[in-house]
Formats: sequence, structure tokens, C-alpha cells
Amino acid sequence: MTMSTEAGNLYVIAAPSGAGKSSLVKALMAQDPQLELSVSHTTRAPRGQEQHGREYFFVPHDEFDRMVANNAFVEWAHVHSNRYGTSRQAIQDKISSGADIILEIDFQGALQIKQLFPKAVTVFILPPSWPELEARLRHRGEDSEDVIALRLKNAATEMAQAKNFDFVIINDSFERALGDLQAIVRTHRLTDAAQRRNRSDTFAALRL
Ligand code: 5GP
Repeated sequence: MTMSTEAGNLYVIAAPSGAGKSSLVKALMAQDPQLELSVSHTTRAPRGQEQHGREYFFVPHDEFDRMVANNAFVEWAHVHSNRYGTSRQAIQDKISSGADIILEIDFQGALQIKQLFPKAVTVFILPPSWPELEARLRHRGEDSEDVIALRLKNAATEMAQAKNFDFVIINDSFERALGDLQAIVRTHRLTDAAQRRNRSDTFAALRL
């Protein structure tokens, strides 16, 4: 099945954990009111200040199973021994309202979305080095040693997928990486289809 994204652009951002994806997406969202973040479902427990319906919809395994059986997800994947998924509901309303949507998901989900929405723009964020990635994971102070070790092991598999993404950003300087992300978003608002959507008055006045 393919679905149209004519009503808005769909940006899919993936990275190994610790690459700085969440901070970059947060900063991007803060200065761009046209972007809306899709809230995923997950079977993992909330961390720290996370709230149900804000960072994620935190659901038990049986509810996640039910949603899979009901075809409620456009994509879902096992990530770091939990399951995560993007519900149709999370993106359908936003797409039809004309918003540009950001999905902050893992590489498996990103590649599933690209199949379903060929016009989706996929971006992979890399850390500048292995020692820096490990230092960032430790610095967060959120995860146990076991979890950090699992995330580092998974990072090798994840980063090998960068070649399958439309764009790759190296997060060595936060400001530069944010600028790169903004450049990707801006560029995709300059296609003929996006300009017609966002500047319909101008196109009408020009009788185009
Ligand atoms: P965390 O547990 O650190 O919040 O997220 C772990 C990983 O799962 C991150 O790479 C995150 O982007 C990814 N993730 C979050 N939501 C989804 C989703 O809906 N689908 C997929 N495939 N991955 C997701």
C-alpha cells in the first residue's frame, strides 16, 4: 500500500541513541511552528518526567498486540528490547490538515515509512565518533550499564543503515547540525507542490 503525502511534508529522523536526535528535533520544533511531532506508542516504561500522551503513549504489551492485530500502526519495530510504533491516528489527522510532520523513530521504522510514503524525507544523524557516542550515553545518566552496553552494540547495526537514508547529518557541532536539519526542511518547502500548498494566494494571483 502507498499513501500520498500531498497535504504536507513528512520528515523521518533516525539515529543511534546518544547521537543527539531528540535535542536537535526539539530545537527544530521550537523555531518552526509549521512542524508537528508525531507521538508514538511504546511498551517501555516512562523515564523521569515523561508523560503519557506527550513523549509517548505508554501501553502494556497486550494493548500493543491488539493495535498490531487491528492494523493500527503504519510502522512498528522492536528497539532495545521494547516495541515502538507510529499509529495511523498519530499522522493521518496531521497530514490532512496540511502540517509538516516529524517522525523521530528508529531506522527500521524509517525504512518502512519510506516504502509506504515514497515522498517522505529520511534523515540519519551520526555522532562524530564512537568515544563521543559512548560519552554522551553515559552523560545522560538515564540508563544502567547494561542498557548503555546494549545501546552501543545496537548503534553499530543502526549506523550501517545511514546509506539508505536521503540525508546524513554529523552532529559534531549542535548549531551546525541544527542548521543542516533546518536546511533540509526549508529546501523541501521550495518544491513546486509545497509552494502551491503554502503560497496558494500567490499562485492564484499569478494565474498558475
Ligand atoms: P527511547 O526509548 O530512547 O525513547 O527510544 C528508543 C528508540 O526508539 C529511538 O531510536 C526512538 O527514535 C525509537 N522510536 C521511538 N518511537 C518510535 C516509533 O514509533 N517507531 C519506531 N520504529 N521507533 C521508534
